[in-house]
Amino acid sequence: MSNSTTSLLDFVYQDLLRLIGLVLIFFCIGWVVGMPWLAVLLALFLFLLLQWYSLYRLYRWMQHTPDQEPPELGGVWSALLYNITRIQISEHRSRKNLLGVISRAQTSVAALEEAVVLIDASSLIEWWNPAAEKILGLKSGDQGRNILNFCRAPEFVSYYQQGNYSQEIKLKSWINEERYFQCKLTRFGQNDRLLVAYDVTRLHNLELMRKDFVDNVSHELRTPLTVLSGYLETYMDQDDLNPRWRRGFEQMRQQTTRMTNIVKDLLLLSRLENSSAQTERKVIDMPYLLNKIFDDAQAYNAEFKHELNLEIESFRSILGAEQELTSAFTNLITNAIKYTPKGGIIRVRWFDDGDDCCFSVTDNGIGIESHHINRLTERFYRVDSDRSRDTGGTGLGLAIVKHVMLQHEGRLEISSKREQGSTFLCRFPKERLVE
Ligand code: ADP
Repeated sequence: MSNSTTSLLDFVYQDLLRLIGLVLIFFCIGWVVGMPWLAVLLALFLFLLLQWYSLYRLYRWMQHTPDQEPPELGGVWSALLYNITRIQISEHRSRKNLLGVISRAQTSVAALEEAVVLIDASSLIEWWNPAAEKILGLKSGDQGRNILNFCRAPEFVSYYQQGNYSQEIKLKSWINEERYFQCKLTRFGQNDRLLVAYDVTRLHNLELMRKDFVDNVSHELRTPLTVLSGYLETYMDQDDLNPRWRRGFEQMRQQTTRMTNIVKDLLLLSRLENSSAQTERKVIDMPYLLNKIFDDAQAYNAEFKHELNLEIESFRSILGAEQELTSAFTNLITNAIKYTPKGGIIRVRWFDDGDDCCFSVTDNGIGIESHHINRLTERFYRVDSDRSRDTGGTGLGLAIVKHVMLQHEGRLEISSKREQGSTFLCRFPKERLVE
């Protein structure tokens, strides 16, 4: 600061000297011709002209040739010129740096295997990397095209329009029927969007193989299990069965029943996974269905002797698949009966909760510690494996409930406290309900 002030003062001093010299020379000439003050006025005017000329040269340089050498100017003008060039040099340097960063960012995005597409606030495609041409089939003419005219898959359109991009979606490729890609949108800037897509064909095929394998194994096991249980029943009905063998036969029968239940549940799960999200949409009379399920539960409850209560507070019906809903609700009631010590209280409800309608089962049984709750709907996840096996559980019941709820656009909510009891609540949105 002090440096620039000093140099500015130097330049002002130079200008001042020039002005004094000019005035003195003109004063002398004016003295000789007898008009000294007019000559001084002329000197001042000449100095002003010189300043204007310098200003004009500076202006022309800035306007037309700022990239070329600056003009040679004296006095305060050279101080000004010096500062302008300094700013110019530093601006030039930062522009170069910025261009370097932009070009590096573009090169690295271009090198990505994931497709990256920039979409502006009006949903027009702005820019994309080479991977986007391979994965999404974008071509040079697509710049400025509406993304929804380009990606017309209904799943993508509803994902794009609903605005909640916390999840990714899997889509079938429209350029190669055999390929699949995972797609994620992110908002940035002024409502612009960034679309990232990557190929998941291998994962998709592996998942398909796993499903097919489980499906095939379950199908293949069905017939041998039916034969086994048939023979076991027949032998056990024989009055002359050797008593030493009866215990063994009884255990074989129990295990065969368990295996049959596992196979049945696995087949149901696989059917739920394979059918589309918009399953059947039959009107299910909930009060009627719940009464039917409740009667079956009473029979199962005979040996547990719990107090079972059914409270139907809403008369709304569900649009859905009866068989699947029956499975889900039965699983929840059976679990409550199984995991509550004898003589407990179990409350089954169907009630309105704002726009939604809920089915809930509350028990005062053994409860579940909080760290298990998030994992309960995984296949074969059990809090206590021995207890589950003793009660004839397959470990698939809650996985089935979760899938049934997904199919009906609802969700399963679990709250529980160890030794105090649990509530399993199935929440159905208004789109799935009829008065
Ligand atoms: P399972 O066939 O073993 O009952 P589920 O998938 O139905 O399998 O349930 C998973 C686990 O969740 C069970 O093993 C049990 O530990 C726990 N669980 C389910 N319902 C209840 C309940 N009402 N009270 C306590 N624990 C429960």
